[in-house]
Amino acid sequence: MWDKVIQSINADAASLRVMNTEGDRVEFAADKGFPQRYLDERSQVGNLGKVSRRVLSTGEVVVSGDIQHDPAFKDGISARAGFNSVIYAPIMAKGRVLGLLHMVSRTPHRFYDRERDILVAIGQQIGAALENVRLFQETERRAQEQAVLNAIARATSQSLDLDELLQISLDKVLEVTGRERAYIRLKDPETGEVTLAAHRGISKEYAETLVHKRTPGGKSDQVFETGKPLIINDIEGTILKEETRREGSNSIGWFPLRGRGEVVGILTVSTSESKPFEPREVELLQAVGNVIGVALENARLFEDSNRLVKELKGLTELLGTKNKELDTFVYTVSHDLKAPLVTLQGMADLLLSEYEGKLDEQGRHYLDRLKANAQQMEQLVLDLLALSRVGKEGHSPEEVSLDQVVEDLLLEWGETIRVRGIRVVHHGLPTLWGVRTHIEQVMTNLLGNAVKYLGDSAAPVIEIGAKDGGEMVECTVRDNGIGIDPAYHEKIFEIFQRLKETEAEGTGVGLAIVKKIIEGAGGRTWVESAKGQGSTFHFTWLKAQKEMKT
Ligand code: ADP
Repeated sequence: MWDKVIQSINADAASLRVMNTEGDRVEFAADKGFPQRYLDERSQVGNLGKVSRRVLSTGEVVVSGDIQHDPAFKDGISARAGFNSVIYAPIMAKGRVLGLLHMVSRTPHRFYDRERDILVAIGQQIGAALENVRLFQETERRAQEQAVLNAIARATSQSLDLDELLQISLDKVLEVTGRERAYIRLKDPETGEVTLAAHRGISKEYAETLVHKRTPGGKSDQVFETGKPLIINDIEGTILKEETRREGSNSIGWFPLRGRGEVVGILTVSTSESKPFEPREVELLQAVGNVIGVALENARLFEDSNRLVKELKGLTELLGTKNKELDTFVYTVSHDLKAPLVTLQGMADLLLSEYEGKLDEQGRHYLDRLKANAQQMEQLVLDLLALSRVGKEGHSPEEVSLDQVVEDLLLEWGETIRVRGIRVVHHGLPTLWGVRTHIEQVMTNLLGNAVKYLGDSAAPVIEIGAKDGGEMVECTVRDNGIGIDPAYHEKIFEIFQRLKETEAEGTGVGLAIVKKIIEGAGGRTWVESAKGQGSTFHFTWLKAQKEMKT
């Protein structure tokens, strides 16, 4: 086709030059019929003479029929090569000059309007074809770039393994950019230390210089500080570390890895040949940097939360073991204390009955005190045993009517309640689902406390209520007794915690048992109260199936 064009124009020699997309370099050149001397001379001027540059910048058609005498040509290489006529036509597409066609003839005045029209038409056709090729390449490139970003993003979503993610990213970066070396350095979020995390194509020696090394004020330092990429298209004349030079890289780019606005690492890409980074490559590598940065953050968050979960699991297990040990200890001690305590009480009784006549007033008083203390101790031992047994009895849950539990207790305490003139209000309480002895123990302690801590209230009232709350019910035991300072609302649920002003007898174990039972059954317990204002103890408990609204 080239030959046909030359023939149809009647030229002796012809050339075609196509510019790169930036328009600053000849990307493709074809020549036909020029003497070697002409080609040599032209390559010395960078393959583009004065007139060619003019055509490229203006898109005009230039014709001259007598270049030996034309001032614009007479000192040029075409004239020197013995040609007489020249014609230049631009290769155009969408109003842009993509290159030029250039023909020469030894015959003077060879090119007229006909040749001019033919050449302009050919220039337009080549332009359209070129544009199509470029569009196609552009689409291909975009698709390829998108594929790279997708591949990295996919790697991120499929695995949160940091190493794997970085390796995949580097492979993809090298594949799409056609560069030789790439490595990633990461900054430790806590210490700020920078380490080499993954690399491709760099020598072992160079990799070693990158491990744990950060040159203050160096290129990567600048990227960490500014968050912007840094490019060296040609190492010639730049200040760089000796190791980098020795590695033989010529075009190098440093790209920030950004995770949540912060630079968390740097991706460095390079080639031995001088291969400038085009704006779109920079754009792509920045996008890659962002994808890796976010992925890194996610992987770190995942690692952190995994570690926390593990730690928490370990702690919970430890706590469980310690609690079990403690329960066993409490049980053993309380159990072992029981026998000598019984003996002690028996001996005191014996002394009182058999030696009554021999004891004076003081002696009897001492023995009474001894008995009272032994009784208090027995209660403590019983309470501690009850506490350590919670959850170990192996009883199965069943339907337990809360009204019934309260009724039974009131029957048991009838005398006390009557004497003190307490009004107990309860009705329509729900049926709960749980271990009967547990529910009885909770109510015994809460109601017992309500009675015990009524103080000198003139019209003592205890109210037991329940509020529906989905699967659970919230039960309350309210009294109008002495109340509790809010500062101690949490403390009183701890073992042996009794308030100083409390005159009533007790061991300080009751509420600890209540809490252990309720939490063991998946509920919660708390108190609402103020000093002198009465107290309301709350707890949540699973409802019996029949209580569930359908
Ligand atoms: P105990 O009653 O044997 O002392 P508890 O564990 O049952 O032990 O209660 C702990 C402390 O909480 C009590 O000593 C008392 O100071 C306070 N307390 C518990 N219930 C009430 C209540 N209904 N009103 C006022 N104070 C209470």
